[in-house]
Amino acid sequence: MDIQEEIKKLRKEIELNSYLYYVLDEPKLEDYEYDELFHTLEKLEKEHPELITPDSPTQRVGGISKKFNQVAHRVRLYSLDNSNSPEELKKWYERVLKEASFENSGQMSLFNTSVKDIPLAVELKIDGLAIALTYKKGIFTQGLTRGDGVIGEDITNNLKTIKAIPLKLFEPVDIEVRGEVYMPISSFEKLNKIQEEQGQKTFANPRNAAAGTVRQLDPKVTSERDLSIFVYTGIVNGEFKTHFETMEYLKKLGFRVNNVKVANGIEEAIKFVFELDEKRKNLDYATDGVVIKVNSLQLQNELGFTSRVPKWATAYKFPPEAVWTNLNNIEVQIGRTGMAVPVAVLEPVNLAGSVVSRASLYNFDEIKRLDIEINDKVLVKKAAEIIPKVLKAEKTENSKPFIMPEMCPYCNTKLIDVEGEVAKYCPNNLTCPAQIQGRLEYYVSKYAMDIDGFGESIIQQLVTLGKVKNYSDFYYLTIEDFLELDLVKEKSANNLYNAIQASKNSTLSKFLNAIGIRLVGRESADILASSFKTLDEIKNAKLEEIIAVEGIGDKMAKNIFDYFQNEENLKTIKRALDGGLKIENHHKIKENLKFKGLSFVITGTLEQFSRDEAQSIVKSLGGKTPNSVSKNTNYVIMGENPGSKAQKAKELNIPILTEKEFIELIGE
Ligand code: NAD
Repeated sequence: MDIQEEIKKLRKEIELNSYLYYVLDEPKLEDYEYDELFHTLEKLEKEHPELITPDSPTQRVGGISKKFNQVAHRVRLYSLDNSNSPEELKKWYERVLKEASFENSGQMSLFNTSVKDIPLAVELKIDGLAIALTYKKGIFTQGLTRGDGVIGEDITNNLKTIKAIPLKLFEPVDIEVRGEVYMPISSFEKLNKIQEEQGQKTFANPRNAAAGTVRQLDPKVTSERDLSIFVYTGIVNGEFKTHFETMEYLKKLGFRVNNVKVANGIEEAIKFVFELDEKRKNLDYATDGVVIKVNSLQLQNELGFTSRVPKWATAYKFPPEAVWTNLNNIEVQIGRTGMAVPVAVLEPVNLAGSVVSRASLYNFDEIKRLDIEINDKVLVKKAAEIIPKVLKAEKTENSKPFIMPEMCPYCNTKLIDVEGEVAKYCPNNLTCPAQIQGRLEYYVSKYAMDIDGFGESIIQQLVTLGKVKNYSDFYYLTIEDFLELDLVKEKSANNLYNAIQASKNSTLSKFLNAIGIRLVGRESADILASSFKTLDEIKNAKLEEIIAVEGIGDKMAKNIFDYFQNEENLKTIKRALDGGLKIENHHKIKENLKFKGLSFVITGTLEQFSRDEAQSIVKSLGGKTPNSVSKNTNYVIMGENPGSKAQKAKELNIPILTEKEFIELIGE
C-alpha cells in the first residue's frame, strides 16, 4: 500500500474509533490498540510532513456530539502527549530544556548547559472525562465537556448533581477550572451489576460509565449515579508562580484536588512515576498514567502548545493491561469441587509488568461465546488483579476447534452435567488426584484454615507418598513425615509441623469454608456459622432448615445437606477432630466489640488499608461505617485527599482521626 493510502486508512480507522469513544461512549478497541494506531499515524506524518492535513486526528482533540448545547470555550482545552517508557520521558524533558529560554523563570541561576534539574509537578492521570467549570463571584455558573477543545457540550445541570463539585466557593472569585469527572471503581461495578440485572447495556470501564453518565439528557439519571471529580488546573492569570501553588489555592477555594508532588528534574520525576504506579493499585478510581508538568507557570507560558497538546506536559501511560498473544492449547483443569475449567495455554507474554502464560476461559460456553479455537490470536486482560482472562479471539491459518473432552484428564472418569449449571464436573471426588490436590491446597490456604508454608509441591509430595488423602491426615503428620519430602530440612520440617499445631484452634466459619462443600465460599460459610452456631447443629440440620437461612440458595442448601449425609465426609470430620482440631462454636468466640455503638466515616485514601478493609475492621469490632457524616458520627478517619466529609466533620465538631491514630485505636 502506498504511504498516502496507508495514512488515509489509518485516519479513517482512528476517526471511527474516536467517534465510538468520545461521542457514543462505546469504544470497540482497547485504549492501547487505539494508541498504537495513533502513534503509527503520527510517525508516518512525521516522516512525510507534506501529507499532514488540518483535519488529521493528530492535529485535533477529542470529539463532540450534538446532544447538548454547544458552547465555545473561553480558553482552549488540549489533550496530552504521551510516553510509554522512561526513555521517552527523558526525550520530552530534553526538548523542554532545549526549547525554554529560562528567562524570568527563576531558573537562570540554576541553568547552564550542564544543569538539568528543573522542578516538575508529578500527579496521577485520572481516567475520566475532561470538563471545564466556570465560577462567577464564587458561584458555579457553567460546566462544559472538553469536546473538541474549542467547543464543548453544556452539561451544567448534570454537573450540579455531583456533590464533589462545589456550587459555591469559599471565596467570591471569578475563575475557570479544569478537571476530570470519574466514577469510583466500586460504584462502576455496582452500576454494571444493576444494569445487567435490568437488562440494560453495561459499561466497558469506569471512564465510559462516567462519560455516559455525565452526558445523560436527564440530570436525574446522573444524580442517581455516583460520580466525583479531581480538579487539575485553574486559569489564575499571573497570581501564582507555580502549578503547585495554583493547586494549593484551588484546594483552599474548596475544590477536590489530587496529590501533586514536585520532583527536581526528570530522574526524580521518573522515581515518583513508579511509586504512583504502585500506589494506584489501592485506589478506588481508575488512573491510566501519570502526568508530568513543568512546575513554573512562566516556563509553561514560554513553551506553549502544539495544535493538540501542551509542550510543557506529558503523560506517562501505564503499560497496557491487555495484550495479544497466541493460544497454544486449551487444557482442562479439575478444581477442588470437581468442576472442569478450561484454561488457555498461552505463548508467554508480558502483561502489566508480569509474564502471563495461562488464562482462565471459565467454562465451555465461554469458549463458544467468544468462538475460541486452538492457535487463535487472543487478547488477554488482567481480571480482578490476579487471573488473566481472554477478551477476544481472531483466527489464524492454523486455528483448529477445541474438542471438549468426555473424560476427566486426571482420573479418566466420565465428566457429568449438573442440573442448572453450565460447568461440567468430574464426579469422582474420592480418588481424582486433581480434586484431592485442589481441596488440600484450598484447605491450607489463607482463605481457609491458613496453615503457613504448604505450597503446591509440599502437598503434591504428601499425596504421592500416601501420607495425606484428605484434610484430616494433616493432624496426624509428624516431623519425620516432613523430613521424607524433597528439599525439606529440619528447620522447615519443624515449621510445617508447628504451622499445623498453631492452626488447630479454628472457627466454625473458617472450617465450613475450608472443607470444600460445592458452591459454599467464605461469605456463605459465615452466614451458616452465625445461623447454626455449632458444627453439630449444621450436621443435624434438616434440608428445610438450611433452605430457610437467608442468603443460602436452594441449590447450595442441597449441597450442604448432602455433604453432611455422606458417611465418608462425617468420618473425615471425626478423624480431624480426634487428631486435635478444635472448632469453636460460633457464639463462643471471644468477641472484641470495643467499637460497639460507635460510627466511623472514612474519607480520602488510606495508605495501609483499602476502604473496604478499614470498614470491615471497624465492623469486626462492632462499629458502624455509614457513608456520610452526620451529627451521629463519632469519628471521621481521614486519609490522603479527603473529600467534603472532612469539611463537614469540622463544621460539626466531630473528632478527626489520622490513619496513624486509627491504627493505634484498633491496635490497643
Ligand atoms: P488523554 O486522555 O490521553 O490525555 C489528556 C487528558 O488527560 C486531559 O484532557 C485531561 O482530561 C486528562 N487528565 C487526567 N488527569 C490529568 C491531570 N492530572 N492533569 C492534566 N490532565 C489530566 O487524551 P485524550 O485526548 O482525552 O484521549 C486520548 C486517549 O483516549 C487515547 O490515549 C486513548 O487511550 C483514548 N481513546 C481510546 C479510544 C478507543 O477506541 N479505545 C478512542 C479514542 C481515544
